[in-house]
Amino acid sequence: MKLVTRAQWGARDYRRPNGATLYSGKRRGVKLHYLGTAYSDRPHAQCAAYVRQLQAQHMDGNGWSDIGYSFVVCTHGYVYEGRGLSRRNSANGSTGLNDQDYAVCLLVGSSGMTKPTDAQLHGARDAIEYCREEGPAGTWLGGHRDGYATACPGDAVYAWVKAGAPRPNTSKEDDMPLSDADMKKLADLVADRVWKKDGLTVRWGTKENPDWAAYSILHHATEVVRDNRVRLQKVQADIGALSGVVSRLAEGGGLTAAEIQAAAEAGAQAALAKLGEQLTDTTPQG
Ligand SMILES: [Zn+2]
Ligand SMILES: [Zn+2]
Repeated sequence: MKLVTRAQWGARDYRRPNGATLYSGKRRGVKLHYLGTAYSDRPHAQCAAYVRQLQAQHMDGNGWSDIGYSFVVCTHGYVYEGRGLSRRNSANGSTGLNDQDYAVCLLVGSSGMTKPTDAQLHGARDAIEYCREEGPAGTWLGGHRDGYATACPGDAVYAWVKAGAPRPNTSKEDDMPLSDADMKKLADLVADRVWKKDGLTVRWGTKENPDWAAYSILHHATEVVRDNRVRLQKVQADIGALSGVVSRLAEGGGLTAAEIQAAAEAGAQAALAKLGEQLTDTTPQG
């Protein structure tokens, strides 16, 4: 929690004895407030001065012994210590209500800036947890308007606190990684579109026909594979021919270099002729 102590924000000392009044027991929970006046957002450097002005208004205008709130949360998520954890607040409407719950005010107004920022909601949540852990306060959450006739803390803050004061979800929906199921769906969709040849084109074609349909590319790739298979068979035929030459040499030899050359060529021709028959038989009809 980004706590700003009274000393840090330059609080005036509170009046005694009223400002020193402690809570009579444990707090039920936390009540939220807003300013109820016009408020415009400002740089954080000006927030402490605003809280000092709020304290002056409460002490000099309302005649209270201190700033009324237990804590104040600025739009940048900083939590200003008001009356703090142990001294009874004076913001909830009556001595009984003040004694019952902590009073946390968010710096948003009834006009101008009326909706809390994400940082501010985090700050308010920090303050609530701080009150629960250090107060102690129970789990009850509500607004000034609960049990008292007022619009405070405004509809936006009230809806949030009655929803349980959840921390804002900072990760955006768009940044969520795709699940495996989503990826599979996507892959199936792409495969469908490619295999169904429904207009997907890729600029891999010739000058005359630059936009080849996906199925044309697939067809082309199949032809390349087939050509490579024919080349492989030719190499196999050459090896077969050379094997014949080696056999004859092993049988008794005595061949000249020219005879070996002629035999190799004859063997290769025979093998190629045989291959030709095979290709005629096995080549798929395009
Ligand atoms: Zn209020
Ligand atoms: Zn601020």
